[in-house]
Amino acid sequence: MNAEIISIGTELLMGELTDTNASWIAGRLPPLGIQLQWVSIIGDDLPKLAEAFRRGMQRSDIIFTTGGLGPTQDDLTREAVAAALDETPTVQEEELENLRQWFRNRGQDMPGHNVKQAHLIPSAQFITNRNGTAPGWWSEKDGKHIVIMPGPPGENRAMWNDEIDAKLRTLIDSEVTITRNIKTLGLGEASVDEIISEYFGLENPYLGIYSKADGIHLRIIARANDEATAREMIAPVENAIHERLAPYIWGYDDETPELSVGAALTARGMTLATIECVSGGFLANTITEATDSDQWYRGGAVAYTADAIIAAGVPSEVLDSNGVVSQPTANAMALAAQTTAGSDFGVGVTGVLGPREFEGHRPGTIHIAISHGEDVHEFPLRTPPRRLVIKRRSCNTALTELRKLITTVAP
Ligand code: ATP
Ligand code: MG
Repeated sequence: MNAEIISIGTELLMGELTDTNASWIAGRLPPLGIQLQWVSIIGDDLPKLAEAFRRGMQRSDIIFTTGGLGPTQDDLTREAVAAALDETPTVQEEELENLRQWFRNRGQDMPGHNVKQAHLIPSAQFITNRNGTAPGWWSEKDGKHIVIMPGPPGENRAMWNDEIDAKLRTLIDSEVTITRNIKTLGLGEASVDEIISEYFGLENPYLGIYSKADGIHLRIIARANDEATAREMIAPVENAIHERLAPYIWGYDDETPELSVGAALTARGMTLATIECVSGGFLANTITEATDSDQWYRGGAVAYTADAIIAAGVPSEVLDSNGVVSQPTANAMALAAQTTAGSDFGVGVTGVLGPREFEGHRPGTIHIAISHGEDVHEFPLRTPPRRLVIKRRSCNTALTELRKLITTVAP
C-alpha cells in the first residue's frame, strides 16, 4: 500500500513552523507495511490543495494530512477534499451537538464559525478528536483513502492512537515490516560501509547506514508475509554485521548510550561515578536522562580547573607532572571518582574545549579514562574544535566504551 503525507499550512512554508507531524506519521508507517512515497507541504490555498488531493488520488492508495481543520477562513482542508472528490459537504446535526457540548463544558457558547467543523462529505466518516474541536475525516472512494487530521500534534497523535492505527491494520494486507537497528562507535561511515559493502544496494532486506551523534547506525529493514520470515531475512545481514563489527557495537534499536549503560549495570547490580572537565556536566546530564539512573549512578563532579580536580580527589602530583589535559590526569580522575563514590566503575574526562589552546593542546583534544577496580582503560580522542561536538563526542565515547567494557569485565 502506497501512501503520501500532505502537511498543510502557510506557516510551514514560511519556515515559521517545522513539520514534525509528517515525520511522526512517517515513523508509524513502516511497522504497518505501508510504503510512504511522498511528503509535501502546501500552504492554505484552496486551488493548490485541491490539485494536491487530485494528484494524490491518482498516485497513492492513502493520503494523510494534518492542518487546516480549524474554524477560520484560512482553514481549507475540508473544502479542498470536497472539491477534489467533487462532493458537497453538509452539516451533521449529531456532530454539531457534540461541538456545542464541547463549548458548553467549558462554559462558552459555540462561535458560529465552528459550524464548519461539523460538516462532512458523503464518502467520509468523522474521526473523533478527544483533545480539540475539529474532528478528522476518513474518506474512502474508488478504493483510495484520504485521512485528514488537525494540525496540533496533541490532537492528531491521540486520533492516530485511538482510531487510525487500528483502522489501518484492518486495511493492510498481511505484509509485515521488521526493522533492526545496530549502533556502532569507533569507525567512520566509510569504513563501516566498506566492511559490509556487499549487503548494501539490496531492496529486501534493505540495509541503510546513518551517521549520528553517537556513532554509525545500521538499519536493516525486511518485508515479508509474516514476522518469522522477515526475521529470517534479517538474520544473515545482522550476523555478518556482528562478525565483522563486534568490537564497535554498543547498542540496538531504540537504545541510547545512557540506556544501554544503565541496562548493563542494572543487570549486574553495578554502579558508576564520574569526574568530568571538558564535557562541563554534559556527561552527568546525559546519564541522568535515563529514568532509572538513580539505581546505578552514584554521582559526579564537574571539575573545571586544576584546583577543582585536586579537590575532587586527584593527587596534586599527577597534575603537577602532567597538567590538566593528559591521559594520566584522566586516569586519576576515573580512579578518584570510583574511590570517592565507592562505585564499581569510574569515568574521568578531560581535554580542551576551546576556543583557545590550553597547555599547548588544541581544542578537541580529549582524554577519557574508565576505571574498574585497579584497572584503568584509556581512550584518547580528537574531535573537531566545536564546543557541542567536543561535549557530545566525549560523553558518547565514554558511555559507549563503558558499555563495551562492562560486558567484557563482567560477562
Ligand atoms: P486549529 O484548530 O488549531 O487551527 P488546524 O487543524 O487548523 O488546527 P493549523 O491551524 O494548520 O491546524 O495548525 C495549528 C497548530 O498546529 C500550529 O500552530 C502548530 O502548532 C501545529 N501544527 C500544524 N501543522 C503542524 C505540522 N505539520 N507539524 C507540527 N505542528 C503542526
Ligand atoms: Mg488553523
